[in-house]
Amino acid sequence: MSGKVLVTGGAGFIGSHVCKRLAAAGVAPIAFDSLEKGHAGMVRWGPLVRGDIGDRSSLIKVITEYNIDAIVHLAGYIEVGRSMREPALFHDNNVARTAVLIETAESLGVENFVFSSTCAVFGTPVTARIGETHPFAPMSVYADTKLAVERLLAAPERRLKSVVLRYFNAAGADPDGEIGEMHDPETHLMPLAIDAALGFAPPLTIFGDDYPTPDGTCVRDYVHVEDLAEAHLRALAWLDGGGANAAFNLGSGTGHSVRELIDATSRVSGLPVPHSMGPRREGDPSSLVADPTLAAKILGWTPKHDLDAQLEHALRWRRSMPR
Ligand code: UDP
Repeated sequence: MSGKVLVTGGAGFIGSHVCKRLAAAGVAPIAFDSLEKGHAGMVRWGPLVRGDIGDRSSLIKVITEYNIDAIVHLAGYIEVGRSMREPALFHDNNVARTAVLIETAESLGVENFVFSSTCAVFGTPVTARIGETHPFAPMSVYADTKLAVERLLAAPERRLKSVVLRYFNAAGADPDGEIGEMHDPETHLMPLAIDAALGFAPPLTIFGDDYPTPDGTCVRDYVHVEDLAEAHLRALAWLDGGGANAAFNLGSGTGHSVRELIDATSRVSGLPVPHSMGPRREGDPSSLVADPTLAAKILGWTPKHDLDAQLEHALRWRRSMPR
């Protein structure tokens, strides 16, 4: 595969890893990012174009100037809690502006589009592992916005060919230590557990231990960001080879509880993870584990890094992270 790929949100956690992976495969990434949340320092494998996905003239300029063949769309707001407080903002940013991106891309003849979605579109699971045919039941405005874009992409009049990638819990960092997670505020379990161990953050609060899981804490399917990046490359190659309009659930198929993650953080770091027990967080399903069979079958994608590797790489990154 070759060509030029516009990566919206290319200065973010997953976007920067996608750029690195594309460049390594000989595909030229052009990072398009407003830098509202992203970091210019994470864009190292191609140009950074600063712009907003809702700004049609900036999009026309970047798509024509760079002769873009395909778009990987990761830009968007991701904080679930904030989405409940500011729903109109999330709908505007994540849905309305994405519609501008899609329509502009189509009008300029871009053919292939990979969209970053979330397992949160499924809500509380009704099966032990979540496959692509699981019913949708989003429980947050954030998840609503992701599903709305999935539906925009599936509209019958659409000319773009698309792949939707639904991430489970993105974690880890670049194995070479060049890039990693840098959210502000940080709300995700793995970086918070690591920061608590390193003394960079206060003790971790476990959000509830009365869930119907083996140890009472929530179970999640953690997937290494480098593995996620690989899935984007494979999705683009699949579209290039004639594939069209599919969605894939990206996880390992194995769940880990919050307590297991704390124990693993302690084991891998050699440090205790100070923590205390708190109440449940609103909107947290007890268990979210992917059935990644379809991604393996169609894209040949299986995650390579286990939980310990995710922790090892994230630990190294958090230790070296610019502060
Ligand atoms: N969690 C926790 N304490 C924290 C942050 C998260 O106990 O400070 C739990 C959360 O309830 C969930 C899991 O860790 O069960 C993963 O949460 P995260 O926010 O990392 O990802 P999410 O599953 O919400 O996408």
